[in-house]
Amino acid sequence: MDRLSYCVRCGHEADPYPPGTLSDDDVFIHGMKPAPEEYYSCPRCGRQPAPFMQATGQACPNCAQIVPMTLAHCGYCGAKAG
Ligand SMILES: [Zn+2]
Ligand SMILES: [Zn+2]
Repeated sequence: MDRLSYCVRCGHEADPYPPGTLSDDDVFIHGMKPAPEEYYSCPRCGRQPAPFMQATGQACPNCAQIVPMTLAHCGYCGAKAG
């Protein structure tokens, strides 16, 4: 399993963490909440739910990993998505 090393909100380096298991549909349509262990800690944004990386997205311009549309930054390299 890939691990993410950057905050997907601001792109700041974070302690490596595994991707989350809930999609946006699970969260917004079904109202599910990530398990306590599915959070990461960003020095700027604080405690954030780990992103679900299986969603449809586009290739990161820097590392070519697929970054889901809803994320502002690539979790693998921190580059700005899109
Ligand atoms: Zn952040
Ligand atoms: Zn990247």
